Amino acid sequence: MILALAGGVGGAKLANGFAKILDPDQLLVVVNTGDDFEHFGFPISPDLDTVTYTLAGMNNAEAGWGLAGESWEFMNALERLGGEGWFRLGDQDLATHVMRAKFLNEGQNLSDVTARIARRFGILHPIVPMSDQRVRTVVETETGKMPFQIYFVRERCVPVTKHIHYEGANEAVPSEKFAAALDRDDLSSIIICPSNPLLSVAPILALPEVRGRLISHNAPVIAVSPIIGGETVKGPAAKIFRELDLEVSALGVARYYGDLLDGIVIDSKDAALASSISEVGPQTLATRILMQSSSDQIQLAREVMEFSKLLSRRDDRGVGET
Ligand code: GDP
Repeated sequence: MILALAGGVGGAKLANGFAKILDPDQLLVVVNTGDDFEHFGFPISPDLDTVTYTLAGMNNAEAGWGLAGESWEFMNALERLGGEGWFRLGDQDLATHVMRAKFLNEGQNLSDVTARIARRFGILHPIVPMSDQRVRTVVETETGKMPFQIYFVRERCVPVTKHIHYEGANEAVPSEKFAAALDRDDLSSIIICPSNPLLSVAPILALPEVRGRLISHNAPVIAVSPIIGGETVKGPAAKIFRELDLEVSALGVARYYGDLLDGIVIDSKDAALASSISEVGPQTLATRILMQSSSDQIQLAREVMEFSKLLSRRDDRGVGET
């Protein structure tokens, strides 16, 4: 089984590639919930929804969030009543939040609710939140501390980031399926999808013991770089890396993850970084990592799996030699 850690857009695309080539019992997608928030009384889980909509083949790929073919009657009516419109809730998307609120109010946890919604979208592969407890990403900027969605959507990531923290992460525990996957010694690989390292992956790694358990796991841990040629494909990762004095490159990503990684998949454009990356530690695979179509997603998923086999064989040999 492959354990894939994902945020929204980038993570969802690679997770979809895995879902297309693996059976449901061969994949677990663990999703960031640091972006979650309450809006107009509804519990919103943006990354869980992006992964769900993407695996269902119903996502709005252009926007990178929400459902394709969405309509906006609710939003128009809300704004007519003076409701704030900075966070867009499409009519169909709203139904997800209404049902999530209902199921949570009935006492189910976020894992069960996510599974229930995913089933209704026809998804067979398990998608789970990183935790069933509340974790909230908070961005400390030059103009003050902001809950993640205020920074990301309302303020359009303009304020300069000074620090990011993950409120509640220390007290939260991994969701049951995530914890069970970490306990399995037959995982073939742990994949850190090409999601924003600081905003989407760091909250998962901030949960107690997760980073340590990933490092000590016998399955290779492989990241796919979200940075190609010194730029992000989408979103503020490059801007935030710069503001936090991290190098905006696949090498910067390798350094950021540090001893967590056995391997990193970088773009062919960045192949020249491989020798500097090997000094940091991980083995490198350079290939096309931009996913513009579903066949790109499948191709990258296959290559990541092949790469992970090479790394686990190397580990086996290493064990044999000592
Ligand atoms: P968010 O929570 O919706 O911002 O989503 P993520 O954190 O999962 O995705 C944002 C990151 O994914 C950005 O840093 C992008 O550069 C990266 N990304 C998006 N699409 C691709 C892609 O096709 N290939 C790669 N390698 N990275 C991508």
